[in-house]
Amino acid sequence: MAQIVGGCLCGQVRYSANADPAFTGVCHCTACQKESGTAFNVVVAVPQAALSIQGTPKTYTKKGDSGKEIVSKFCPNCGSTILSEAEIMPGISIVRAGTLDDPSWLQPSMEIYCDSAQPWVKLGGDLKRFPKMPGPG
Ligand SMILES: [Zn+2]
Ligand SMILES: [Zn+2]
Repeated sequence: MAQIVGGCLCGQVRYSANADPAFTGVCHCTACQKESGTAFNVVVAVPQAALSIQGTPKTYTKKGDSGKEIVSKFCPNCGSTILSEAEIMPGISIVRAGTLDDPSWLQPSMEIYCDSAQPWVKLGGDLKRFPKMPGPG
């Protein structure tokens, strides 16, 4: 089983999940670029029910391009975003892979929101690329 254990930069917010990831991927959306301060986010989706959080993250809610809400949870002390939860993906927490204590097992399988990717970002491997979200619509 994947080691889904990690926390924010300062250690005030920690998490662990007792489950395998639902999916792993790279997100090039503009919100991820703003949030991370860099070109893309690497994410690990886990069942919300399997995730336990220690500490009290702050939340920030915005609407995604579906018009549905996305809630981000971040450390109130150091500002690291730990995860987000999207109304369109009920029961799933989208953990920021950069917060994992040991990301060595991580193997993203897809890139999403490639339409807004920075043009110089060329990731290797066999990642499936989607212009926006995969799936119907
Ligand atoms: Zn922190
Ligand atoms: Zn994104």
